[in-house]
Amino acid sequence: MRADVRQVADGAYLVHGSDTNWVILTDGDTATLVDTGYPGDRQLVLDSLAAVGSKPEAVAAVLITHAHNDHLGSAEYLRSTYGTPVLLHEAEVPHARREFLQQVSVGAVLRNTWRPGVVPWLVHVLRVGGTQQHPVSAPEAFPTAGPLDLPGRPVPVHTPGHTDGHTVYHLPHLGIVISGDALVSGHRTSRLHGPQLLPVMFDHARTRTVDSLELIAGLDGDILLPGHGPVHRGSVREAAEQARDRARRTGPARP
Ligand SMILES: [Zn+2]
Ligand SMILES: [Zn+2]
Repeated sequence: MRADVRQVADGAYLVHGSDTNWVILTDGDTATLVDTGYPGDRQLVLDSLAAVGSKPEAVAAVLITHAHNDHLGSAEYLRSTYGTPVLLHEAEVPHARREFLQQVSVGAVLRNTWRPGVVPWLVHVLRVGGTQQHPVSAPEAFPTAGPLDLPGRPVPVHTPGHTDGHTVYHLPHLGIVISGDALVSGHRTSRLHGPQLLPVMFDHARTRTVDSLELIAGLDGDILLPGHGPVHRGSVREAAEQARDRARRTGPARP
């Protein structure tokens, strides 16, 4: 499998891994990497950096939207091999260390195998190491409020719900919002296309996930780079509102 790297703006690339997306922001040959796919996506992460003219030792920092296995996969590898700082919201730091786990349980997934796409998704998860734990041994909270002094100058915005410390990254000058799993545009276990929330079983606190859509709706932008699904072009506000309306229609069903 090859890394599917799509340039979405000057110095901004959305990469589709085996199931999860990550984003590369470049400034010359230095880069910011936002999320790192599944543990089994490591070679794709390295290939994608090469594809944009960078390399792992030139990654200034790894930013994590949230510490689920499909986003955290190569973070500890990059930190321990290249000394790359791994930055997250302070509420997500202990999650990245695996002091606790806010991820859907195998039991909850098995109760949902009647849903379309869940069994093929589960097979894929097992194949790419999605049930292995790869804690980050020294994750760091963001050093300051406001824009980070990194390629792309991303602005972290705390959007709790999917996990307690979930963070989206706003690039105001490019009109980009990197939304992680707080707002996606598709998933193997969903029949919907376009802006939506993940199925309820994946959220730690669904009500807060829905509330956080208001925060995303307030971010100026017209390019949405989600953790799952294709790039979504169009008003980020309207995308967040569409996901909220869809979530309200399906209701607060328990996993
Ligand atoms: Zn997630
Ligand atoms: Zn995810």
